[in-house]
Amino acid sequence: MEPPTLADVLDAQRLLAPHLPPTPTWNYPALDAAAGATVFVKHENTQPTGAFKVRGGITLLSRLDPAVRERGVVGYSTGNHAQSLAYAARLFGVPCTIVMPEQANRAKADAVRRLGAELVQHGATFDDAAPYARSLAADRGMRLVSAADEPDIIAGVATVYAELFAQQPHLDAVVVPVGSGSGAAAACLVAAALAPGCEIIAVQAADSPAARDSWRGGELVRRPNRTAVEGLATGSGFALPQRILRDRLADFVLVGDDEIAAAQWRLLHDAHLLAEGAGAAATAAVLADPDRFTGRRVGVVCTGGNASGAELRHCIARETTEPVAARLG
Ligand SMILES: *Cc1c(COP(=O)(O)O)cnc(C)c1O
Repeated sequence: MEPPTLADVLDAQRLLAPHLPPTPTWNYPALDAAAGATVFVKHENTQPTGAFKVRGGITLLSRLDPAVRERGVVGYSTGNHAQSLAYAARLFGVPCTIVMPEQANRAKADAVRRLGAELVQHGATFDDAAPYARSLAADRGMRLVSAADEPDIIAGVATVYAELFAQQPHLDAVVVPVGSGSGAAAACLVAAALAPGCEIIAVQAADSPAARDSWRGGELVRRPNRTAVEGLATGSGFALPQRILRDRLADFVLVGDDEIAAAQWRLLHDAHLLAEGAGAAATAAVLADPDRFTGRRVGVVCTGGNASGAELRHCIARETTEPVAARLG
């Protein structure tokens, strides 16, 4: 399995153009003041599925052999990869089965069903859903679609960064939230070609550090997977993205679930933006490290907006617990 090239990314961009308009990138004075930096937010929460992953799903499905398409695809996911595949499958008339953990976000599960995919709920976490999906795909002769060990998914997702560097060509750093690492790997590939002076920094939840530890140690490792932040909740590193990250990633940081909730509140308040936890993780990393980011031009990708009701209530409850000075500032 080879990483996609810049040509693959530009092909994906042409392929996606009739399906998905570019997403906006804005900075906000209140957020800039809180961060001490100029923070350009890439609004992937405005995708039709509420997350960036749909770029990868459409790219992959559009390139499948007709015979494979006819038999259909199986995916496993905490929700956004699932919605991406279900959306793309509906677009191209491909049968689609999704395996999600039993306690999956209801809104994400309902969205998958409404997109017409078959939904199977199995296991406690993403890591339990994966082997079940694998055996289901084998039994039914369907194509298993990994969350990240898929060059076409990485090429599709990389269009986020081709777009971002066209919108903001002079970024000093881009911070990308990581679950499987497809997004961060895509950012690294595009930056190397289009913005070689820009650092790519990855961020995962401290309670699910498998991707970070895999990158640090230079080999795929398993780690406890306890974060409540869905898009970041993976328990092991993925081979293809890790290979790309190893060569090109500037740094990989961790943030706590609380810091993520605080950043969600900031985005809601300062950028009128509904982020799910994973969509706020890059902002959390910037707010957590003023020494690194002060005075710089930083891109943060708001990767998704599919927050559950409970997540939103938790986020909004922060308004009453934040210090008055912070609220007035
Ligand atoms: C999947 C997801 C991520 C993590 O992306 P990977 O490519 O799996 O590393 C981040 N944010 C959201 C909203 C996601 O759905």
